[in-house]
Amino acid sequence: MVTTTLGEFDLIARYFTRTPQRATLGVGDDCAVLAPLPADHQLAVSCDMLVEGRHFLSTVAPDRLGHKALAVNLSDLAACGAAPVAFTLALAMPRVDESFLEDFARGLFALADEHTIELVGGDTTAGPLNICITVFGAVPVGQALLRSGAQAGDELWVSHPVAGGLGDARLALEVFRGAVALAGDQFDVVRTRMEQPTPRVALGIALRGVASSAIDLSDGLVGDLGHVLASSGAGATIDADAVPRSAVLASLPRALQYECTLAGGDDYELLFTAPPARERDVKAAAAQARVAVTRIGRIETAPGLHIVDGQGAPLGLRPTAFDHFRSAA
Ligand code: ADP
Ligand code: MG
Repeated sequence: MVTTTLGEFDLIARYFTRTPQRATLGVGDDCAVLAPLPADHQLAVSCDMLVEGRHFLSTVAPDRLGHKALAVNLSDLAACGAAPVAFTLALAMPRVDESFLEDFARGLFALADEHTIELVGGDTTAGPLNICITVFGAVPVGQALLRSGAQAGDELWVSHPVAGGLGDARLALEVFRGAVALAGDQFDVVRTRMEQPTPRVALGIALRGVASSAIDLSDGLVGDLGHVLASSGAGATIDADAVPRSAVLASLPRALQYECTLAGGDDYELLFTAPPARERDVKAAAAQARVAVTRIGRIETAPGLHIVDGQGAPLGLRPTAFDHFRSAA
């Protein structure tokens, strides 16, 4: 570890200051000044904090941490169908570790450049490692995808990697906890899904005007679907066996598959609804965004969530959502 006496402002200048592209004024003054949005667009804003030991393990490589801190925020823009514009970064860290900062900034800016979103400001302080990013995005007036739009009869869809599914991040966590053992190459695959999630920004944008509701999966399918149902005043039935999973997860005991896919968390995939008549549009949106989508259930008029297996029989177990104030650390 390289520890230096680099000061706060030198650190900001060295690692977090780049020439503004779209912004009128970026890092370095009391405020950033952003250019106006295109006509008829609304600003979408979201903020997500990552706390060591809670949202990431101390073993994560700093470049992956930089990636993930931005990815989870981009995922929220994706869930609203918003196009990324700018972000701020509030960073607390116990000491100035230049090799950490260099790697962290590299991972952060690699993803930022992929999505043409620019860092326009932030705050830097000493303290326990904590990363808080706020993202700003643009969405045409009235076209933001909301949790509240699901209608009875709509079909439920999830996005996922072409050769993967939900639950890998949770599976990686179980390996870290020592509850599951995997071969090294299998572990690498699921660990990457946990540490470097891919925000589905292009899909969110392509689903404007197609999806009736959307949410990104951060706390597990069952819990996040619960938010959609509560906001929409509807119920749903999902087929637990239709929920896509990777070959690695599919090779493990069925109860673990259900736990990881239904209550996993950290997937950062999109869960969305659309009327059956829009199936072709949903598939076209997925093809355009180069991501897979799978239909996993249906929205119902009666409240409540019914989870069935591939034969239509009720699933015996009830996976629960992650809740920061209800679960043990
Ligand atoms: P102030 O005292 O006005 O709050 P600061 O001294 O905290 O400003 O920050 C100086 C400048 O550096 C500001 O433009 C701020 O937005 C920016 N900044 C601080 N920390 C970061 C960071 N981690 N990433 C990007 N910009 C930052
Ligand atoms: Mg400040």
